[in-house]
Amino acid sequence: MITFLGSSPYNAPAIYSLIAHAEFNLGIWYPEGGLISVSNGLAKLAEDCGAVIKLNSEVLKINCKDSKAVSVTTNKEIIPADAIIANSEYSFTEMNLLDEQHRTYDKNYWEKKTYSPSSLLFYVGLNKKLKTVIHHNLYLDEESDWEGHFDSLYKNKRWPENPMFYLSVTSYSDKTVAPKENENLVFLIPIAPGIEDTPEVREHYFNNLIDRFEKINGESIRDHIVVKHSYAINDFVRDYGAFKGNSFGMAHTLFQTANFRPDIRSKKVKNFFLYRLHDTTGNRYTAFYCICRSSC
Ligand SMILES: Cc1cc2nc3c(=O)[nH]c(=O)nc-3n(C[C@H](O)[C@H](O)[C@H](O)COP(=O)(O)OP(=O)(O)OC[C@H]3O[C@@H](n4cnc5c(N)ncnc54)[C@H](O)[C@@H]3O)c2cc1C
Repeated sequence: MITFLGSSPYNAPAIYSLIAHAEFNLGIWYPEGGLISVSNGLAKLAEDCGAVIKLNSEVLKINCKDSKAVSVTTNKEIIPADAIIANSEYSFTEMNLLDEQHRTYDKNYWEKKTYSPSSLLFYVGLNKKLKTVIHHNLYLDEESDWEGHFDSLYKNKRWPENPMFYLSVTSYSDKTVAPKENENLVFLIPIAPGIEDTPEVREHYFNNLIDRFEKINGESIRDHIVVKHSYAINDFVRDYGAFKGNSFGMAHTLFQTANFRPDIRSKKVKNFFLYRLHDTTGNRYTAFYCICRSSC
């Protein structure tokens, strides 16, 4: 529930148990090469249809005239537009890319919302194969403090003492994501957005994860690490403009579900649309792909 909805199971609306039904009873598909393969497929389809994709360009401003969006200023050029869809984080787009008179919501609005957790992620490459893992591994072991961890995420925001964690081993299912006889791991600890993120804290939790993995799984990995890269709050802010470094947008509480979420269409600028994790569609890839499908 945490990563799927950004909500605590203590107050997530029951309707979201549909997600568990879809995933456990209807099954999950995995694209070879990881989710980037789907993005690459969509990009190719768009280009085949005549779209021009400009990468490595930072959008600095959405320019509006008479309540209409007219162009986009990037760090390289100004691109005129008939309509604009922004996929940077909703709150970031409104507060940083639009002039004040064109914003539907103010800073106060965003401050009052309940946000999904952020994540402390470790991308780890091993030069050995593991015998005790599968593709998805959840660690809700006796050392993890279930209630304390949720309290640290939503009520008394702090680093958790004994966190639950998730381990994804995509190389378990996909030979293309790691060299032969190597393993590709991603560890994830949900953490509260907005707390202090330092290299020392990250290292503390990395050691905690490795110790617990080795104890629970009975396999040594520390001496087999050939790649290690961390990603957390500061990175979500830098790369996504994510509010307080959250990972999954606004939490799906009852009053932040469906029509209670911000509208995908700007109320102030006629031909301007905002999408990413906060809007009525909700977060997750599925929302994005459904939008792609319904727009085709
Ligand atoms: C750790 C983690 C695990 C997840 N697990 C799942 C899962 O299991 N299942 C699931 O369905 N969903 C999952 N999600 C959610 C899923 O990743 C998102 O819902 C999805 O990626 C959103 O897609 P998007 O295209 O809207 O936004 P994004 O993929 O975030 O793309 C937005 C893009 O905009 C770019 N950008 C931002 N600002 C600017 C700017 N000013 N100028 C130019 N470009 C800019 C960013 O660099 C980024 O490339 C997970 C998310 C995280 C972080």
